[in-house]
Amino acid sequence: MNTSLKSYTLHNFRTIPQISSLSKELIENIEIVGRVLPFKTNNYVVEELIDWSNVETDPIFILNFPQKEMLDKKYYTLIKKLLDENASKEVIDEYVKKIRLSLNPNPAGQEHNVPYLGEIKLKGIQHKYPETVLFFPSQGQTCHAYCTFCFRWPQFSGMSGLKFAMKEGALLLKYLRLHKEVTDILFTGGDPMVMSASTLEAYIKPLLEPEFEHIRSIRIGTKSLAYWPYRYLIDKDSDDIIKLFELVNKSGKNLSIQAHFNHPRELSTHAVKEAIARIRKTGAQIRTQSPLLKHINDKAELWSQMWRKQVDLGCVPYYMFIARDTGAKRYFEIPLERCWQIFRQAYSQVSGLCRTVRGPSMSDVAGKIQVLGVQEIKGDKVFVLRFIQGRNPKWVHIPFFAEYNPKATWMDELNPAFGEDKFFFEEKPSKLKTTKPFPFE
Ligand SMILES: *Cc1c(COP(=O)(O)O)cnc(C)c1O
Ligand code: SF4
Repeated sequence: MNTSLKSYTLHNFRTIPQISSLSKELIENIEIVGRVLPFKTNNYVVEELIDWSNVETDPIFILNFPQKEMLDKKYYTLIKKLLDENASKEVIDEYVKKIRLSLNPNPAGQEHNVPYLGEIKLKGIQHKYPETVLFFPSQGQTCHAYCTFCFRWPQFSGMSGLKFAMKEGALLLKYLRLHKEVTDILFTGGDPMVMSASTLEAYIKPLLEPEFEHIRSIRIGTKSLAYWPYRYLIDKDSDDIIKLFELVNKSGKNLSIQAHFNHPRELSTHAVKEAIARIRKTGAQIRTQSPLLKHINDKAELWSQMWRKQVDLGCVPYYMFIARDTGAKRYFEIPLERCWQIFRQAYSQVSGLCRTVRGPSMSDVAGKIQVLGVQEIKGDKVFVLRFIQGRNPKWVHIPFFAEYNPKATWMDELNPAFGEDKFFFEEKPSKLKTTKPFPFE
């Protein structure tokens, strides 16, 4: 490809040449579901990643294009009716807002981790684990394309009250001066790599000064390698990005790109291979992560393939996540036991160089909880779990047990095993949990 980024949204997706090959129903699904869930794709995804001969089941098509089943039937019918009746934009927007609010737009208590500087609430920062601060630069709260499973989707839908964003890098620096326990700063979004090289530089360069000696690693969470690898190749400031990465490494700090890849196909194009090679040449490391998603990557072979390709290209497999309870979760969710089986099968097929990956892991209010497996202990079938990261660092790597529940897809559906009334990290007995009914009933 020799052109610049071209984005497609609900307003212009009909101009994608391949769209004319879709059935009327598939196009209607995009129009209806795309009103509620954010929809954006681009020319690279369309031309180099999607298999248009097979869209009904194509994982990359499903990753970007809204599918009928992603929306509860009741809501689908409602939006369809409003559109058929030519309802006014105001009326449609009102309903869309209500539906979005019912989809748990801010899961797992992220708002609990927003720190203060004196009286000032630092909305662009999350500080949950002592050593790592998450920073959400306001210019990075969009992406080169949108994943249909994304839990950050309120940020793209104009629900500004929920936007974790901070215009001022100065506040971040002030906070880091006061928090010498922080060793890692993780730029996240959206996707920080949508920012211009000069904006990114304005945030990163001050961190290289001697007063931030305690910051050892600068991390950037990004899906750009999968959605727009040309960011590192032919954009007008691609060379400046590469220079900035070199500068970080020359300063003696570690630069780690936390790259999101959901499917091995995203690692197969010439462009992504070139981009990875160019980043690695700067001295930066690339670690990879993805959630486990029904319809996209729910097969062990896809994961072992993905990890092997990553290691081939010099990347380090890092996390396998369990899909969060937000947006279209029902469409993507996989029972915890099955998640563990997929992880185990994939893990057992690869060499030790791929086994740097950890998971499957739930990012819950209390921490990152890994499903170690299902086991029978003296006649009781249980889940064995542990914290990879804990809100309290003392919880980390202590095995604990939950009653076996074949339907459970998230921590909030698990009860302590062996008749205990709470998990070891809970202060009060937890309410007895049942597998959630469908959230809209
Ligand atoms: C995952 C995560 C981090 C980083 O954890 P590592 O295990 O060090 O990669 C930091 N903060 C939050 C809130 C996280 O969810
Ligand atoms: S790239 Fe990341 S933040 Fe953006 S839509 Fe996908 S998962 Fe969400």
